[in-house]
Amino acid sequence: MRFDLITIFPEFFAGPLDHGIVRRAKEAGIAEIYVQDLREFTKDRHRTVDDRPFGGGEGMVLKPEPLFEAVEKLLGRGVGDAENRVPPEAGTAVVLMSAAGRLFTQETARRYAKLERLILICGRYEGVDERVAEFLATEEISVGDYVLSGGELPAAIVVDAVTRLLPGALGNEASTQNESFAQPDDPSDQPPLAEGNSRHSPLATRHRLLDFPHYTRPAEYRGWKVPDVLISGHHAEVAKWRRQQATEKTRRNRPDLMQKIGGG
Ligand code: SAH
Repeated sequence: MRFDLITIFPEFFAGPLDHGIVRRAKEAGIAEIYVQDLREFTKDRHRTVDDRPFGGGEGMVLKPEPLFEAVEKLLGRGVGDAENRVPPEAGTAVVLMSAAGRLFTQETARRYAKLERLILICGRYEGVDERVAEFLATEEISVGDYVLSGGELPAAIVVDAVTRLLPGALGNEASTQNESFAQPDDPSDQPPLAEGNSRHSPLATRHRLLDFPHYTRPAEYRGWKVPDVLISGHHAEVAKWRRQQATEKTRRNRPDLMQKIGGG
């Protein structure tokens, strides 16, 4: 899958995308990640990317022209104008990072992971000329209900969440099927029941629960003990305990998710 990140701070991404799973996915050719400097698509001497807002008010707004031209260059075709709009092609999404966008969730990540190409536009300042959201981007996405100073961190979040879902990106394919926000109730998504690995029990994947608590050695640390059941060797009991813990944790930390499950 190919990602293009359009930003006024290209150097920002040296680091966040160079570790762990994302780095390995790049090295394995599973993910191609290109960073595009928005200023390359300006035409004036000062390489201006922003301007004052119409109607007055604080701050600066990213201008439409460099963004349209950057995306058109990447797509290798025009997107049209008010008279003649060229529809987007299947397999590619042009995503504007925006605090005012739709919430990015694991479901969004799963949908993006099926695409061939994702172009991510990082806003700055007060935001981006609205014509970008309306006529250039195919969607406007927020990573959470808070305001950041730029779209770079959100874009890195999207690249990370999507990349780890690409086939072959994780060492253990089953890992994305039993974690928090995993897709519930799809038998084809259920990993086989692996002996000695009760994490793969269908019990653990039937609902959209948060992940269960994990423990590793030492079995006792500062007097805090790992739950006995995990050391017992009873796989069925372990599976039951994990499911109970996941339910309890979801109820405690994310009651909104429990309501979703309850309401179907
Ligand atoms: N005036 C805007 C905030 C602009 S913040 C508002 O009130 O909604 C500057 C840029 O940071 C935005 O254009 C966007 O690209 C990015 N950004 C800030 N918060 C974000 C979030 N929660 N999700 C995605 N992008 C965000």
